[in-house]
Amino acid sequence: MSAYKTFHERSIKDPQSFWAEQAQLIEWFKPFDQVLEYSKPPFAKWYVGGKTNLCHNAVDRHLKTQADARALVAVSTETDQEKVYTFKELHTEVNRMAAILKDQGVAKGDRVLIYMPMIAEACFAMLACARIGAIHSVVFGGFASHSLASRIDDAKPKMVISAEAGARGGKAVPYKPLLDEAIQLATHKPDHVLIVDRRLVEFTKVVGRDLDYATERAKHMDAQVPCEHMDATDPSYILYTSGTTGKPKGVQRDTGGYAVALAASMKYIYGGQAGETMFTTSDIGWVVGHSYIIYGPLINGMATIMYEGTPLRPDAGIWWKLVQDYKVSVMFSAPTAARVLKKQDPAFLTKYDLSSLRSIFLAGEPLDEPTATWLHGAVNKPIVDNYWQTETGWPMLALQRGVEVMPHKFGSPGVPVYGYNMKLLDDATGAELGADQKGVVAIEGPLPPGCMQTVWGDDERFVKTYWQAVPGKMVYSTFDWGIKDKDGYFFILGRTDDVINVAGHRLGTREIEESISSHPNIAEVAVVGVEDKLKGQVAVGFAIPKDANKTETLEAEVMKTVDSQLGAVARPARVYIVNALPKTRSGKIVRRSLQAIAEGRDPGDLSTMEDQTVLAQIKTIMGK
Ligand code: ATP
Ligand code: MG
Repeated sequence: MSAYKTFHERSIKDPQSFWAEQAQLIEWFKPFDQVLEYSKPPFAKWYVGGKTNLCHNAVDRHLKTQADARALVAVSTETDQEKVYTFKELHTEVNRMAAILKDQGVAKGDRVLIYMPMIAEACFAMLACARIGAIHSVVFGGFASHSLASRIDDAKPKMVISAEAGARGGKAVPYKPLLDEAIQLATHKPDHVLIVDRRLVEFTKVVGRDLDYATERAKHMDAQVPCEHMDATDPSYILYTSGTTGKPKGVQRDTGGYAVALAASMKYIYGGQAGETMFTTSDIGWVVGHSYIIYGPLINGMATIMYEGTPLRPDAGIWWKLVQDYKVSVMFSAPTAARVLKKQDPAFLTKYDLSSLRSIFLAGEPLDEPTATWLHGAVNKPIVDNYWQTETGWPMLALQRGVEVMPHKFGSPGVPVYGYNMKLLDDATGAELGADQKGVVAIEGPLPPGCMQTVWGDDERFVKTYWQAVPGKMVYSTFDWGIKDKDGYFFILGRTDDVINVAGHRLGTREIEESISSHPNIAEVAVVGVEDKLKGQVAVGFAIPKDANKTETLEAEVMKTVDSQLGAVARPARVYIVNALPKTRSGKIVRRSLQAIAEGRDPGDLSTMEDQTVLAQIKTIMGK
């Protein structure tokens, strides 16, 4: 049996010994009594009786061996600042922030909402919460007051940490008025709001509630706040899903299992070494930011880069300049960002010395072959897809080079990761499917360490939403649709909502999108299933051209491409040529909104959407 198969099989058949071994990758204040307690499925408890702390593992632990090594590199091309913090300096700042929180009465188990741009203080805030056992809930800075208010009411934070403004494309983006409005809208009121004043915009203070970070920090310059000894099963944070398919769900994560899962993923999947630098281009508001900007690299003793700015300013070479300057060895980004760069001159990428870089990981949405090939061609490094969710916290499907170097297959994020008992199931019967059969991607419980414990404050929603979606079986549904080949490689075909049924043929919209995007003049495309009296459903495409001056015959050409690649059954009824697609603020296409307008329905909850005007433009193009 291959090294991978042996490793994976052991993790499933003997999780107790497998995860006991991985637990040695982190430091414990008190060893656990039991690796896994699964008496009340689907609620898994990892490392019962063990005591540890995320901040201790991310920061304090490294003081013994590499206090003066780089820990955090905060770069802003918006404010032209670049600051490096060693582990010792990071430790000092986190202690100061923790002292401020304690001073205001924040204690273990209290929630702290963090609504901040990508600045160093946001990292201090997250780690300070972890240090004192407060549960952080980071809300992406791009959200406006309505979305923020609903998260305030769900998490009920004792304190909010924010900044008066973020910045994007060289312009200040005020946060404070949105926060004030959100608190007004919300039923729950936080006691205090701590504001990092970046002096980007003027703002008003609420007397008695608002605190100034610089003033408070000055009171605690020599603060020493010990790390709280947390139960492994104590919650560490709440994070809301992206809201691509509807109302976001509040994912609750534990402490010990998460620390172990991240440490193991750095070893077996991402392959970073202590002393090296990782650059994850996401935002702390998303799960990729939690796991691979903040906790993963730091727990692993790596430096992490927090970047505030766009990938295109001052020019499209900025990311690669950072790779060169900080000798980045591991990079993590998203297909949507790669597609942005793809529209630029490739010379920006080849200008810099990328010799330190070993691989670029991409996750968050399907990685289409043209984008992967383009990026690989431009940087000449392995481009590694990995598949996971806010709920899982770390990859479910990936090639695990630290276990065995396996061949890469285009369009596939790879094979099930150790700990995940991945299944492909028939969505009507729940029966397990064999090679080359399409089905729902599911996980047989228990979920491995690091995955969600429950939906915050709503165990019933956790069970109902995730564990009762596949008939006849209590399994975790990813709500993604996939297929597995004879070698065990999975291919994600789209969301289960995105499967369409054309005259009895079940098609994943992703397959049709792949085909359309292989046309040389297509930059980006979304396909949805639209109700049709005759065929049940038909595919309808929305495509952005690369060259907007050459679109006269584009729709017909694209249809021909699909015809020849997938057959006439997959040919969309229409392919509308548009100039933008509706996206979430994390850059994912909101297909449900396109489907709704194509079917003349109300598009539903659009609170996580980036630009509300895009849908109106598309409606006009469709003549609706
Ligand atoms: P919501 O659950 O609120 O609708 P969301 O599912 O977009 O939002 P995330 O947790 O950010 O929230 O995204 C996880 C989803 O992203 C996966 O279920 C899958 O659909 C998609 N995804 C992530 N990585 C990949 C990948 N490598 N290939 C294909 N799809 C991916
Ligand atoms: Mg989801």
